[in-house]
Amino acid sequence: MKNKIDMVYNMAIEGKEIEDGVLVEMLEIDPGSDDAQYLGKKARQLADRVVGNKGKIWASIGIDYQTCPMNCDFCSFGEEWNLFQGRHEWTDEEVIGQVKKYVNEGASWITLRTTQYYGIDRLNALAKKVRKEVPGDYGLVANTGEFGRLKAKEMIDAGIDTVYHTLRLGEGSSTKFNPEDRIDTLKAVEDTNLSLAYLVEPIGPEHTNEEIVEIFKKGLEHGAVLSGAMARVAIKGTPLEEKGELSAERLAQIVAVTRLGAGTNAPDICVHPPSKQAVEWGANVVVVETGAVPRAEKECCGDWDRFDSKKARKWFEEAGYEI
Ligand code: SF4
Repeated sequence: MKNKIDMVYNMAIEGKEIEDGVLVEMLEIDPGSDDAQYLGKKARQLADRVVGNKGKIWASIGIDYQTCPMNCDFCSFGEEWNLFQGRHEWTDEEVIGQVKKYVNEGASWITLRTTQYYGIDRLNALAKKVRKEVPGDYGLVANTGEFGRLKAKEMIDAGIDTVYHTLRLGEGSSTKFNPEDRIDTLKAVEDTNLSLAYLVEPIGPEHTNEEIVEIFKKGLEHGAVLSGAMARVAIKGTPLEEKGELSAERLAQIVAVTRLGAGTNAPDICVHPPSKQAVEWGANVVVVETGAVPRAEKECCGDWDRFDSKKARKWFEEAGYEI
């Protein structure tokens, strides 16, 4: 298997597409084996080559804490799960204050994240204010509902340069979305030259290697420049709670495979929730987040899961990245 991993590594450096079957083989490796260790080592080496060894912080602010009628089977916001009461929205001033904090801490991206129906016009108005009030060299990311080309162009005018959007695992079965609608949004991002950030998510132990590869490749197909993997958090009271969660080793392995599979095409590879092993196995991006988090039962009044920029920097340093 080590020879095959070397072959994939060399192809990745050259920006060649790795066949689905080969990526599946990488995912079939026992995550606790020596081969998996080797896979992780090569993925880490590849991070050095394709991103100049730069570790980056992705900061995300959940603006609206409210139930959502889409009731995705993994999301704590689903109104049918009755997991929280009340409703809260951050004011523009609060968002701007938080953006300043994250930018001062060295975040490479700031994400404004909303539930499905917050509204693109409202989000764009907020983005404009953020750009005006917080100068700096950071990417401004929208993570919101569906939209077409017209709204995508308006996002660019508002100062947004990146969109986080995905076709999720189980889209149309674990969610009530028509997968085609999600793909239409990906096309709108692609057609307007917004940068696409796209993780394979939300991964649980029940997802097959073939499903993981298919969803991963969909992101590359639509021009993702940031990829990686997001594990599902088994939130008590959501329908997918009973399916459990990935082990840390398995998440790191999937991240390593996305690193090799993305090669030079999607140079930034992210892991979420944060995992030190995944950073050591090729992820150069970790997320710090606050506010409304769809993986939590309560609104966060600090950094989610107590993972902050300081800890992210420490992990990167220990894994040999520069920040
Ligand atoms: S994942 Fe998004 S669309 Fe689905 S329930 Fe949660 S907020 Fe709504």
